Amino acid sequence: MNVIVELEKLALLGGPKVINKIFDRYNPIGQEEVLAAKNVVESGVLSKFLGCWDPDFFGGAKVQEFERQCETYFGVKHAITVNSWTSGLIAAVGAVGIEPGDEVIVSPWTMCASATAILHWNAIPVFADIESKTFCLDPKSVEANITPYTKAIMTVDIFGHSSNMDELNTIAKKYNLKIITDTAQAPGALYKGRYAGTLSDVGGYSLNYHKHIHTGEGGILVTNDDEIADRLRLIRNHAEAVVADMGVTNLSNMVGYNFRLGEIECAIGIEQLKKLDKLVASRRKTAESLTAGLKDLRGLQLPEVMPDCTHSYYVYSMVLDINTLGVSRQRICEALEAEGVVGLAGGYTNVHLLPMYQKKIAYGSNGFPWTSDICHREVSYEKGICPVAEELHDSTYLAMAMCMHQLSSDDVNLIIQAFRKVWAQMESLK
Ligand SMILES: *Cc1c(COP(=O)(O)O)cnc(C)c1O
Repeated sequence: MNVIVELEKLALLGGPKVINKIFDRYNPIGQEEVLAAKNVVESGVLSKFLGCWDPDFFGGAKVQEFERQCETYFGVKHAITVNSWTSGLIAAVGAVGIEPGDEVIVSPWTMCASATAILHWNAIPVFADIESKTFCLDPKSVEANITPYTKAIMTVDIFGHSSNMDELNTIAKKYNLKIITDTAQAPGALYKGRYAGTLSDVGGYSLNYHKHIHTGEGGILVTNDDEIADRLRLIRNHAEAVVADMGVTNLSNMVGYNFRLGEIECAIGIEQLKKLDKLVASRRKTAESLTAGLKDLRGLQLPEVMPDCTHSYYVYSMVLDINTLGVSRQRICEALEAEGVVGLAGGYTNVHLLPMYQKKIAYGSNGFPWTSDICHREVSYEKGICPVAEELHDSTYLAMAMCMHQLSSDDVNLIIQAFRKVWAQMESLK
């Protein structure tokens, strides 16, 4: 490590920057994807779905090929593509049979769509708190939030690490709940030898531009349950027009959408899936190098990987011990950014604090579904219901996005030097 750099004046206070280069943009798209897309365009068949009971109800050649490959890769019975993971989450909540007014326990520490998918079926999101090490749902808080109206848990494998599936599955069994896993950010991460996203009733992955692998927009649902798989395919593709001919008798939530992913995206997805292991391994290497270079810095919690798990590092998550450091997160962030560190963000999301929940205004302007008699009880979204998530968001959590850049080992060393310089001179930030 370069000790001289650590002793130079902080860039924030007028000294020289550690990092004077622009990092390469992360871009998993190459010639393979260009060729795959070109072949589809030249075929003229950009989508083959039909919204009726017909062989084309299942989509065209590339949709089906991509789905079969996802089934093999993730080791599941059914993979079902959708035009976004937001669509996938909506389909999942409908497919597991959620009724209006049912409560679904969800993490507040996620992208908003995890909770909105619940509201789409006029069900009630109930926010449980998270663990401060994995940032995923805390099983104890989940159990404490169960009421007679709870029907499912929506757990989020946030930042690239699986939720505590053993404990969540035990709770689900005990209370007869379904589990949906939002594994948008953790494709390729393992939980006890199985892929995150595959240990629940239904899970899946986002294929949007910012994720590990992408098709521009898109998503993949995975399940081992035949009935849920049928219902997912129906909700994806105009269920109400198909059920009669398909011989479906359970009409609950057979309200269809057009959530179909096109042939071009699936052709690209086939190539992307082949690269997933390599892409995740490269991020893992970057994260492990960062951890090796930062682990002795005081008051800095680095990403932890639970036993028998692997991390796919969508985000490199840190927690600052503000009492030990004596400097605010904002000031530390400013100092790191001044040294040229990019992709930093203080805090994440506290979904329960969004205006929709604070004002309880979603559908129309009169508080539906909370004020409707389908809603069984008063559900609180007040600040204070998720103290761990709130404290992390307000003052201690520091993220470094790993989805924005392709970092070389030199880049990683520069980032480490920038952190070490700021830490060596923390006193001057007071
Ligand atoms: C990206 C993301 C989504 C939404 O996925 P889209 O494909 O963009 O619709 C949902 N949940 C989490 C945790 C995400 O990171």
